[in-house]
Amino acid sequence: MCETHVLSVSSAKAPFEKTTIERRELRADDVLIDIKFCGICHSDIHNAYDEWGGGMFPMVPGHEMAGVVRAVGPEVTRFAVGDRVGVGCFVDSCGQCEYCLRGEEQFCTKGVVLSYNSLDYDGNPTYGGYSQKIVVKEDFVVRIPDALDLDVASPLLCAGITTYSPLKKWNAGEGKKVAVVGMGGLGHLAVQYAHALGAEVTVMSQSLKKKDEALSLGADHYFATSDAATFTKLANSFDLILNTVSANLDVDAYLSLLRVDGTLVNVGAPGQSDKYNVFSLIMHRRSIAGSLVGGIRETQEMLDFSARHGIAPKIEVIRADEVDKAYERVLRSDVRYRFVIDMSTL
Ligand code: NAP
Ligand code: ZN
Repeated sequence: MCETHVLSVSSAKAPFEKTTIERRELRADDVLIDIKFCGICHSDIHNAYDEWGGGMFPMVPGHEMAGVVRAVGPEVTRFAVGDRVGVGCFVDSCGQCEYCLRGEEQFCTKGVVLSYNSLDYDGNPTYGGYSQKIVVKEDFVVRIPDALDLDVASPLLCAGITTYSPLKKWNAGEGKKVAVVGMGGLGHLAVQYAHALGAEVTVMSQSLKKKDEALSLGADHYFATSDAATFTKLANSFDLILNTVSANLDVDAYLSLLRVDGTLVNVGAPGQSDKYNVFSLIMHRRSIAGSLVGGIRETQEMLDFSARHGIAPKIEVIRADEVDKAYERVLRSDVRYRFVIDMSTL
């Protein structure tokens, strides 16, 4: 066993405490990683506040891990000590079902093992990346390209893949009009990917405050959703809307912005269900969909794509004792655009 320092919450909304846990003994196909940086995803807050239900406490959140390989098991073939690596939202899957075989482990029929707030296949709770070390099966570890520093790479492991995957799946590209709703951690990466893929990109944010940054990241247009005229101006105009907002929205209002055959894809995951009128879909043959992170192969593709296109999150690096304050700031939309914890401060 290997002891590691972690940040843990004892119950929903409790403050973070520094403590230690034991990581499992290295199995033959395991990699021991020194986590250098871990991003703070809004999902960490939904989980630590138990807004989705089913929270397992004590909880060590974190699924945007970037670090360096410290040791490998005897059957590990793809990684060596010193490699720069990342771990995202899940750490195991059955490897045999149709979804695992096609590289979409997040939909594993046995049930994917999440990086935290989940049980592994032995029945032990998983603990995430607000931690100095983690032991992970090599199949769930990705390589961080040299062009990406570890701090900026960490948010790509969730925010990056969660936006890249649906943009690829729904063919954001040349000739397509794509709206990104919400310019937070996910949204500001979605803008960069949609632009790099060749789409015409519109950002819809609560206010005009982030306009200059959105345009500098590749947005072609920017609108404030607080201005009711926005919804009249943009009616029937998008092929694809990617909703990254962490709260409930007026779904019908956003559906009305889609062209015939357009799709509203939700990645934002508020705790309460959304409601919509079925006529918002029927009258223009529109679709409403959701998307969950992305598989390991696609995560590696996203990292390589990011390195090639110079795509990176804008981050604010914080110390381990600043996480409670950071959560409050995320909830106030007061982050430009991702907090990343420096694990050397733990
Ligand atoms: P974030 O950084 O907090 O960004 C969310 C953005 O939503 C904010 O920056 C804000 O953008 C907008 N927003 C917040 N409250 C709002 C409100 N009351 N009304 C309208 N807009 C509001 O969060 P994130 O880390 O990007 O995560 C976003 C959501 O995606 C979360 O619900 C998270 O759990 C979910 N998520 C899902 C997946 C998946 O696989 N599907 C993966 C990761 C995260 P503006 O200020 O620009 O309006
Ligand atoms: Zn996340």
